[in-house]
Amino acid sequence: MTTLELINLQREFFNKHINQEVKYRIEQLKLFRKILKENESLLFEAIDKDFGKSQYETYITELSLIYHEINLAIKKVRKWSKPKYVWTNLANFPGKSRIIPEPFGNTLVIGAWNYPYLLTLNPAISALAAGNTVIIKPSELALHTSAIMAKLINENFDAGLMHVVEGGVKETTDLLEQRFDKIFFTGSTAVGRIVMQAAANHLTPVTLELGGKSPVFVLPDANLKMSAKRIAWGKFLNAGQTCVAPDYVLVHKDIKEELLQELKKQVEIIHGDEPKGKETYVRIINKRHFDRLNELIHRDKIFCGGETDEEQLYISPTILDNVSFDDKVMEDEIFGPILPVIEFNNLEEIIKKVRTRPNPLAMYIFTKKRKIKERLIKEISFGGGSVNDTILHLSNSKLPFGGKGFSGTGNYHGKAGFDTFSHKKSILFKGLWFEPFLKYAPYNKFKLKLLRWIIE
Ligand code: NAD
Repeated sequence: MTTLELINLQREFFNKHINQEVKYRIEQLKLFRKILKENESLLFEAIDKDFGKSQYETYITELSLIYHEINLAIKKVRKWSKPKYVWTNLANFPGKSRIIPEPFGNTLVIGAWNYPYLLTLNPAISALAAGNTVIIKPSELALHTSAIMAKLINENFDAGLMHVVEGGVKETTDLLEQRFDKIFFTGSTAVGRIVMQAAANHLTPVTLELGGKSPVFVLPDANLKMSAKRIAWGKFLNAGQTCVAPDYVLVHKDIKEELLQELKKQVEIIHGDEPKGKETYVRIINKRHFDRLNELIHRDKIFCGGETDEEQLYISPTILDNVSFDDKVMEDEIFGPILPVIEFNNLEEIIKKVRTRPNPLAMYIFTKKRKIKERLIKEISFGGGSVNDTILHLSNSKLPFGGKGFSGTGNYHGKAGFDTFSHKKSILFKGLWFEPFLKYAPYNKFKLKLLRWIIE
């Protein structure tokens, strides 16, 4: 089937209004859950082949979140899709006002490779729940996970409703030339620009889930042991290949040495002193990323780690000390197991410095002081984040997840995902028994006075 044939098929399917029925959407979501559950062993096997990820980590960082998203959608989609009545203003008396969540229509979900299931299937769940058709384009870098998603979905769903198209730049470019009613993209800021430009040709709305350099602030009053444990967990999970991973640490100079020692200790507790080949520690996705990361390890600045194995695409959890904002490692998102630590003395100055950089996707603050938490949250613009923890804000489906500016536009998870894939159709229902004479000419001073009296 060509790209155009597939899109025409989905257009025809949508126009039949089959998935406008909430009952049908629920059936399909249940089928989706059943297929994933019955084929978990294949999903585990594929991700292990792609980058050596254990079943446990795949479950906590991907499958559990996908099951939660499906279960929530099944439970709530009736409520979410119900029209909502809102207050009607006096000028429209007598009338009623209703907002109807309407599916956009034919949607496209383009995913990144680092959480290959979560980043493609969760948006697809929201798209289905909202009554859309969906074409899923997983990343070609995670070959095995892309193939298993294509097999499971394409063999079990009507291609008119949901279909996986595998491939890289060429296939994505082909898709982007077509007209969709909504595009949901997860990936780099550079490709996000390409997607937004292509969408503009058709005036297609986009949600962009991008990346960025997410800072961690550690203040002198922080609980250092707990801070280090949570930073180390969030940074080296998936070997740092996480969009919301702490990218770099900004620590007050008075506690820097102590924090570095704690970080080293916690890395050893979590991953052991030789994480290579261990179930708890994943590999770098490919040679290109391995080489890129290798170049970011400034050998003179290694505090701990720094071991690499090109054949196994392994880079040990690495902490860099005495880093400055001018170092290469501080230019772009690291997206790997390297943690630069930068000390600061003056909070005001360091806030100013962070504010000059593109908006990060996430930010983390370790302090017990309420005023400092609130100040940092208020003064720095970022997608979302956690206080005294890392990463886990994304696991609460009540919190819309997404970036801002350079780190993305729009959001999803739970109800926010449903809303992202729905157009809000606003309708005014007018009664026929009254029509205000003020609406009509001739206009005169008396009418204007009366109008002002009513409105103001
Ligand atoms: P990427 O931008 O290279 O690729 C993403 C998708 O775009 C893939 O499906 C790929 O096939 C496609 N693509 C790549 N080049 C293209 C081109 N020239 N034209 C059209 N399509 C193209 O990103 P990646 O390497 O897969 O993922 C890493 C990035 O994604 C990081 O920046 C990370 O922070 C970000 N990310 C963000 C989130 C989030 O939720 N905000 C989640 C995961 C990853």
